[in-house]
Amino acid sequence: MRLSRYFLPVLKETPAEAQIVSHRLMLRAGMIKQQAAGIYSWLPMGLKVLRRIEQIVHEEQQRAGHIPLLMPTLQPADLWRESGRYDDYGDEMLRIKDRQGREMLYGPTNEEMITDIFRSHVSSYKDLPLTLYHIQWKFRDEMRPRFGVMRGREFLMKDGYNFDVDKPAALHAYNRHMVSYLRTYERMGLTAIPMRADSGPIGGDDTHEFLVLASTGESEVFYDSAVTELKLGAREVDYDDREAVAAICQEFTTLYARTDETHKTELFEEIPEERRRVGRGIEVGQIFYFGTKYSDAMGATVVTADGARVPVEMGSHGIGVSRLLGAIIEASHDERGIIWPEGVTPFHAGIVNLKQGDSATDAACDALYAALKGAGLDPLYDDRDERAGAKFATMDLIGLPWRLTVGPRGLAKGVVELTNRRSGESEELTAEAAVARLAQIYAGH
Ligand code: ATP
Ligand code: MG
Repeated sequence: MRLSRYFLPVLKETPAEAQIVSHRLMLRAGMIKQQAAGIYSWLPMGLKVLRRIEQIVHEEQQRAGHIPLLMPTLQPADLWRESGRYDDYGDEMLRIKDRQGREMLYGPTNEEMITDIFRSHVSSYKDLPLTLYHIQWKFRDEMRPRFGVMRGREFLMKDGYNFDVDKPAALHAYNRHMVSYLRTYERMGLTAIPMRADSGPIGGDDTHEFLVLASTGESEVFYDSAVTELKLGAREVDYDDREAVAAICQEFTTLYARTDETHKTELFEEIPEERRRVGRGIEVGQIFYFGTKYSDAMGATVVTADGARVPVEMGSHGIGVSRLLGAIIEASHDERGIIWPEGVTPFHAGIVNLKQGDSATDAACDALYAALKGAGLDPLYDDRDERAGAKFATMDLIGLPWRLTVGPRGLAKGVVELTNRRSGESEELTAEAAVARLAQIYAGH
């Protein structure tokens, strides 16, 4: 993309309404625009990051064997009367009437609807295990929408639902979700720690929240510092191997890590003192095993191998897709702006032309731009007629991980400059070598 033709409405001033750094930077970098409290338009660069996050979520869910579908945002109230949640949900639910006077709602989550789909089409253990998920907009009329996309009213969530014949199979689905989430967050450059959580209104036996440590997080967290060192890395995971998947969950949930809802002082004090940490975290996901809560209420049953008819075992598992943008920025920024991890960056590299209008420099930039695209990369070329300082400031603000600087002095030596946004380190190399280097860096993402 050429910046002169793009729509990147960068703000010079820091917006007064934004209380936390991710919200300020998303507004300043022209990623979102608030339309009503907790409701945002996604401007082109914000949308690009949102899509990259969605893509990673899709890839990791499908790697774990989970199947995408798409349910609507609007749901009939009657479905929620079956589970009893229409009355329980309270003011967070946006209730709507259509022209016939039928009661509808804008879905805050989809347990009822997915259970309805399941009971309409599945009745045998032979069709199990089954995990269906979607990435869809949700609405919760939050009491205090704030912090930009972190606590919106309309927000994008991945929600997945497993259906299994018995509890061991459902717990395997739970574990599969835990491992797939660990990989999902790692690919986004995040350390998200699974913490034992409280089951709350969805109700259930087993539940973990995934928290990204950040001083602006809304949850108070207590943990053993050693838990932050754990990495899934590039290891191969066989998602059908119950023991192997359970072992990974064990590895990531044995060290103490809890939110204030489940915190136990006695257990916390068993951690060696130098490793005890109290901090704050952003909840970027949650997994639940809740057994037959919805299948009992809504009559979703399956016939087992011995011919018995039993309510199907279920769980639900969510990732805060739009909240993740805020969480990533909270975890990765400096005083000049955002620093995107390579896995989610809106553009792979920025090109800064130091002497716009100089025919040799323009031609070198055009060639570099074409070469990057030829290598399958997505560059942002700042071809505006601006001072170098202003171009650098924009690149630093929007946080592309790599910048290529092209000017007459370098070109005279046959080189361009490749700068890493995080370390600030620069290196001079030929345009061909720079393209090859970037292609190699992104091959792993
Ligand atoms: P919270 O405790 O933050 O209100 P929750 O536990 O009610 O969240 P879940 O039902 O677990 O939320 O939803 C799954 C994920 O969706 C959460 O882990 C979070 O990342 C995200 N999420 C929930 N509410 C919001 C919101 N208002 N704005 C943005 N993301 C949200
Ligand atoms: Mg939650």
